[in-house]
Amino acid sequence: MPLSSEKLYKIFKLEAEFSYENLAVVGGLQKLAESWAAEARAEGTSESLIPAITSILHRYPDLDIDDRWGALLEIGDLLSIPKIAHLPNPARRESTIKKPETTKGKTQEKAITPAQTKVSRPKRIKHTQEASRYPIADTTIGLDASTTVIRGVGDKQAEHLKKLGLSNIEDMLYFFPRRYDDYSSLKTIGQLQFGEEVTIIARVISITTYPTKRKRKITEAVVSDTTGTIRLLWFNQDYHIRYLRKGMFISISGKVESYLGRSVIYHPDYEPIDQQQLHTNRIVPVYPLTAKITQRWLRRTMFNTVEYWSERVNDFMPDSILEETQLPDISTALKQAHFPDSQEELEQARQRIAFDEIFLLQLGVIRQKYQWQSLESNIYTVSDEWLQERITSLPFELTNAQKQTLSDLRKDLASGHPMNRLLQGDVGSGKTVIAGLGMAIVIASGAQAAFMAPTSILAEQHYQNMLELFTDTENTVPLLQPDQVRLFIGDTSKNEREDILQGLNDGRIKLLIGTHALIEDPVTFNNLQMVVVDEQHRFGVKQRAALRNKGHNPHLLVMTATPIPRSLQLTIFGDLDVSVMDELPAGRQPVDTHILYPLERERAYTLIRSQVEKGFQAFVIYPLVEQGEHEETKAAVEEQQRLQEEVFPDLKVGLMHGRMHPDDKDNTMREFRNKQYDILVSTSVVEVGVDIPDATVMIIEGANRFGLAQLHQFRGRVGRRAEKSYCILIPETKNSVDNERLVAMTETNDGFILAERDLQQRGPGEFLGTRQSGYTDLKMAQLTNIRVIEKARRHAQNIFEEDPDLTAADHELMLRALDHFWPAAEGTGDMS
Ligand code: ADP
Ligand code: MG
Repeated sequence: MPLSSEKLYKIFKLEAEFSYENLAVVGGLQKLAESWAAEARAEGTSESLIPAITSILHRYPDLDIDDRWGALLEIGDLLSIPKIAHLPNPARRESTIKKPETTKGKTQEKAITPAQTKVSRPKRIKHTQEASRYPIADTTIGLDASTTVIRGVGDKQAEHLKKLGLSNIEDMLYFFPRRYDDYSSLKTIGQLQFGEEVTIIARVISITTYPTKRKRKITEAVVSDTTGTIRLLWFNQDYHIRYLRKGMFISISGKVESYLGRSVIYHPDYEPIDQQQLHTNRIVPVYPLTAKITQRWLRRTMFNTVEYWSERVNDFMPDSILEETQLPDISTALKQAHFPDSQEELEQARQRIAFDEIFLLQLGVIRQKYQWQSLESNIYTVSDEWLQERITSLPFELTNAQKQTLSDLRKDLASGHPMNRLLQGDVGSGKTVIAGLGMAIVIASGAQAAFMAPTSILAEQHYQNMLELFTDTENTVPLLQPDQVRLFIGDTSKNEREDILQGLNDGRIKLLIGTHALIEDPVTFNNLQMVVVDEQHRFGVKQRAALRNKGHNPHLLVMTATPIPRSLQLTIFGDLDVSVMDELPAGRQPVDTHILYPLERERAYTLIRSQVEKGFQAFVIYPLVEQGEHEETKAAVEEQQRLQEEVFPDLKVGLMHGRMHPDDKDNTMREFRNKQYDILVSTSVVEVGVDIPDATVMIIEGANRFGLAQLHQFRGRVGRRAEKSYCILIPETKNSVDNERLVAMTETNDGFILAERDLQQRGPGEFLGTRQSGYTDLKMAQLTNIRVIEKARRHAQNIFEEDPDLTAADHELMLRALDHFWPAAEGTGDMS
């Protein structure tokens, strides 16, 4: 059992002792969610399970005592931690001898007699020539038929299956086990060695419970197979005698230890064995469950379904691709994914199904890109002299990467097709000015541009920069008047708002900068021709589309400071052209990064003091708090007070947090930039984009709670000048796995490397943020597997070049599969 499950179980056991009053963990069980998820993920727990568990944990405090018990059992079921099923029922604490509850899966299974579990094998229908002409979900074949057509599934069971998202046969076929129990590599008791972690199968010979002198209750079961016996021991858990019966076959997992020279397993995991499954399959699937469905029933139902229907799925993948990739046909793959004959065949099956997912994803993004390119857009060109004049009037020299990107933008704007470009640049690489110059090219012809940022602080900063760029140029004629560049945020006053709406409508205002307030209904442009979205990952697909729809095929530039690993660039962002700015402006030094433990915090304060004495400033970031923004704010408020009163009474310590009024946030930031504060204590709201040139120290408390990409963003707030800057990471604990990740921060300042590691560690869902995680619910494929992605992309590209609309007869199934994969409602893979 994974360590993370073991830990959960221990906590749940303690919670049971506290009568489910949510006392087992300081602050409540809900606090476990994040740390558990990280650990479980590191241990390879299925990505599809994790949100289910964390959501139960988050709900836990709001449940009644009885429901809390049920919630913990549910987690036990989901994670297959059989011991959790034995947690005492709060309603029955007095009478533990009573028969166990029968509502839960585990115990209900025992009511099924061997006769009932016998697997019925339906006759195989041959895969005829005729059948193969039918598309996947053709009703005459019936893959979209309701689950009630399956033997043993009535209306009631069908309802329960719906809770697992299973409505029809196809859903069933693509509902994969979350793990497999491999009974083909079992050990016998005779082979066991002390200290080994093992799984064995044995018969219960006896079970007894007796008190020790110190009033502890010991429960002892003796189990045996044909090669020997071993004892199982529990302390103070006499309820096991309710579950273990003499003669029962169980699988047992645990560590073999020696007690008085004999083998024993303390507190083992165990599960009754389904002998039927053992005989038919050495590798047994274990499915995700829901209330009222037992593993045994679902396994049997799946067996019936897969046996009969996998034969009838028609393969959309051309033989030529299957041959070249050496992947199995879909019928074989589906069968082996559920009931594998061997680990090798299981692996093959997974690869096939994963390949399908990536392939369809690729076809979708390639199609999307093609559709973009077939649209027409206004052409915007400027002379070399014109552009050079603007560039020379900047207070700095552009980097080569900036020049290259600017020429990419110029080419797009002159192409007659809408720009659809992702600009990736490490934090501090100077994206803003390049976006500004791009918009200048459009505005020079009298058209309008919009620039959207995720926070009002950032929008305000961009507004200041754009004002300078467009209206305050030294050596050239300003492109715009100050009232033609406007800021539009949630807080913009009513009068101002009306003036802006009017000015946009009649075309007087040329450049609008703001937050998502820009995409609100009443905002209509006269002639919007270019749209820039900064920190694009903070916005959803729909928000970006909404802004684009304010114009007619406008040019679109999306920017991100979190470098996007190539695997995601090819998949999730595969429809976009990409410019990369991997070069920092001259004269910047890498930020010196160190890990300090809480006891060494004093050293961080000494550093702050010495930097402030040199005229510099410091950030102190207060960690994410799981209970949400309110608690986070409270923590930051207290920290600001403590630092101001106890540590730096002679310095000025500012405070910023997410619950402040946007005006106050902007004011605080402005005051900090104007050096009215030496130190700014903040929650994670300063994460994106804000520019404080004199800040040279970034202290991050609770650093272990942040992802690497996010830490790198924080770090990017300093190091904007030639003098050395520092980033101090203060994790909450010593020696935890978390801290290992932090070492990566000290080793490199390269955002691309850190992003890659972050993706590996946290998975694409968290890496991209919840808003974009819709694209990550692939069942088998990993968005991180670059080899498969590149292979699938090549094949998809070939198909597309040959037959872009997939109208060829032998692509009919593929087209259906593609439309199935990219439901029309969400647009055809429009992710930009
Ligand atoms: P990011 O790419 O993280 O959005 P910004 O666009 O905010 O970075 O730029 C960071 C800082 O660097 C700004 O103060 C900007 O004026 C400055 N800057 C941009 N380009 C250059 C350059 N070529 N040389 C020096 N400073 C630059
Ligand atoms: Mg930026």
